[in-house]
Amino acid sequence: MISGKHRPTVLTVDQRAIRHNINHEVKRLDDHSELWMVVKANGYGHGATQVARAALEAGATGFCVAVLDEALELRDAGFTQPILVLGITTPEYAPLMAQRNISATVGSTEWLTAAMTYLQTAQLGRLNVHFGLDTGMGRIGFQTPAELRTAVDYLDEHEQQFNFEGIFTHFATADDPDDTYFKTQYQRWEGFMAQLSHRPRYVHVSNSATSLWHAACNGNLIRFGVAGYGLNPSGGAIQPPYELEPAMGLVSQLTFSKYVEAGRSIGYGATYTTSQPEWIGTVPIGYADGYERRLQGFDVLVDGQRCEIVGRICMDQLMIRLPKAYEPGTPVTLIGSDGNQTITMQDVATYCETIHYEIACGFTARVPRVYQ
Ligand code: PLP
Repeated sequence: MISGKHRPTVLTVDQRAIRHNINHEVKRLDDHSELWMVVKANGYGHGATQVARAALEAGATGFCVAVLDEALELRDAGFTQPILVLGITTPEYAPLMAQRNISATVGSTEWLTAAMTYLQTAQLGRLNVHFGLDTGMGRIGFQTPAELRTAVDYLDEHEQQFNFEGIFTHFATADDPDDTYFKTQYQRWEGFMAQLSHRPRYVHVSNSATSLWHAACNGNLIRFGVAGYGLNPSGGAIQPPYELEPAMGLVSQLTFSKYVEAGRSIGYGATYTTSQPEWIGTVPIGYADGYERRLQGFDVLVDGQRCEIVGRICMDQLMIRLPKAYEPGTPVTLIGSDGNQTITMQDVATYCETIHYEIACGFTARVPRVYQ
């Protein structure tokens, strides 16, 4: 997709904020623990390689991604640190992962036997493996200690091809003030670990929410994602132990502004009609940029004032009601502060009845990222 470089709509990414957030978390870790920054989905929309660089400066020592291609992007950009692919990769890519020193998440012995045939043939080195345990997320991973034992035995018998590098689980409700289900999952995790004959180098259970609010969990590695970008994983239901600084902002400018008589309609479907003479401004952003159509009726900021989005949001443009005449070129803030007004990523998510994760990683490649 083409990046709209000749249009005033940009996502601003504050790398200092990312460093601030990660550095705070690194300082809370004990001497034996590491933080790997989760940079999947293009660094939650912020730019994977730029975030990875800021993360290393702040004390991160590795990365997590969702799919192999995201790991390869980091390797191609020159990152030599450990990288774990959190999703299940097709076994035929095991030799490529071994060759590029990219760690695989494994949730069944069947995966190991399938990967084994490819690794034996290709002979491109040992594959680093992290066993994923399904303690209650219900997504991927070994379901019982017996399944896990079989897989560990298989690894022990095939040390030429595999290195048992890590073991982990993922909590479904770590961001919930009610920790009942979290405790159930944690007990299952302890049940699995009690049956493990030997521990690998990395033992990890924490995403952002777990590391912020369940610090007593054992392990020596955290998979730090959304909080590194300055977003509260709970959306505000629980307060973090230190101030998170949001890294992403969204700004544009008016490209058009006009005075209209009462009774004129605005936008597709003519869903908004001026009730009195009004100033209407046009902003060059739309749903093709990831600014959702559901945001009709929400606000943006102009000159420190909240202005309502009137009429349907188009693919590439939207219209707002201005309090008075403003010239084309006037700054418009869609996420961020202007004067004493602020619109947060969480405000946008709340209006869209979703989570800020979805908003942040939903901005498309057409919106240039500008790094500060
Ligand atoms: N670990 C796993 C297995 C994940 O799937 C994710 C994100 O979805 C993370 C860690 C990071 O989570 P968060 O962004 O909430 O820190």
